[in-house]
Amino acid sequence: MFNPGRQQLREDHGHRLAIAGFAGLLAFVTAFASSPAIGAGNAPASGAKLSQSGKSLVVQISTSRQIALTGLSRQPDLNQPKSKYLCLEMTRRGKQVISRICIGGRKNSRHRVGVTRTNKANRVFSKNTIAASVKRPSKREFVIKLDPAAARLPHGQYSWRIVRSDGDCKNDSTDCRSSFPARHLARYRMRVIEAVGCTGGNGEFVTHGPRGRKQIALTFDDGPSAYTPQVLHILKAHKVKSTFFEVGQEIQRYPATSRRILAQGHELANHTMHHGLYPGAADIRQTNHVIKKATGFRPCLFRPPGGAVNSGVLSAARANKLKTVNWDRDTNDWKLPGSGSILNTISSARSGSIVLMHDGGGPRSQTVGALAAGIERLQSRGYKLVTVSRLLGNKTIYRPR
Ligand SMILES: [Zn+2]
Repeated sequence: MFNPGRQQLREDHGHRLAIAGFAGLLAFVTAFASSPAIGAGNAPASGAKLSQSGKSLVVQISTSRQIALTGLSRQPDLNQPKSKYLCLEMTRRGKQVISRICIGGRKNSRHRVGVTRTNKANRVFSKNTIAASVKRPSKREFVIKLDPAAARLPHGQYSWRIVRSDGDCKNDSTDCRSSFPARHLARYRMRVIEAVGCTGGNGEFVTHGPRGRKQIALTFDDGPSAYTPQVLHILKAHKVKSTFFEVGQEIQRYPATSRRILAQGHELANHTMHHGLYPGAADIRQTNHVIKKATGFRPCLFRPPGGAVNSGVLSAARANKLKTVNWDRDTNDWKLPGSGSILNTISSARSGSIVLMHDGGGPRSQTVGALAAGIERLQSRGYKLVTVSRLLGNKTIYRPR
């Protein structure tokens, strides 16, 4: 629907570079100008655009007049003629469910949006609110950012429109309601969000995180291996995110497992190509390359085999923009001390701890056997189990594919 605006840009070669950045704005104006007049009193949506940025779905809406955000219902009943709302309706191709994301509400109207899922006759299947950001760059514009996964909008093709009512309906007919686009549904392809990198690869050397927050990082070394899927299953069941310091040659053997680690929200990190002691910069660089090639993710963390560090290892990691990460709790699981012993060490972790375990490099059924109970003990004491990057206050960088 924004093609007319883009077409004009393409034809105007002389100014193309200078105004390319305003393409979105022009599209807004074009859409606004072509919007049909709606009954007096209503302030219909006159332009809208969906896009993805990082992990977020970004919804830009312009309206023909200013609308008070707090006067809108976040979970409107569309069968009620007095309902006031401004919502994005999305339907995934081949599905019957309409997901209606509505802004407003008296409390937290800039930090939460309503998500109501209905069928076409407005029968409600589910209703909740999710965290979001609702901003007003101008009086007649809203910019909403939300996590599509939280709104239960998986990747795929969608049809969508903005629906709006000011609640002055005479009856339950559509006389006071408007939508944008007015006469058809727009289309959007929700892309897959991928973790592509992280912040924090600054050459530092750490063995634990801040002690002031009840967070602990479980780490798994030497995989991926045939045991990794069992580890992933337990982590998922307990809603835990972890860091996997993996060996390049094993990533080449198990590229699909490496991608699965990442897809489940865990972090991949560098543990050299072949687990050789005191690796040089070239080895570490090649391992980063193997991880990136298999998964699309560029790691920020490095763990030297055996935890053996000297100034050469640290500078090799720094040269590759990695942080070197050891641990303050060693389960010694590679020595096969029994699940009870591994469990005791996991349980001894405290705020900021980094716990060393192994998902590869040998038989790991003792590690797998201790993992669920270890997680449950820490969680029952109020600890959140996070990736090392999260523990250290660093961020994962996401990008739509
Ligand atoms: Zn190792």
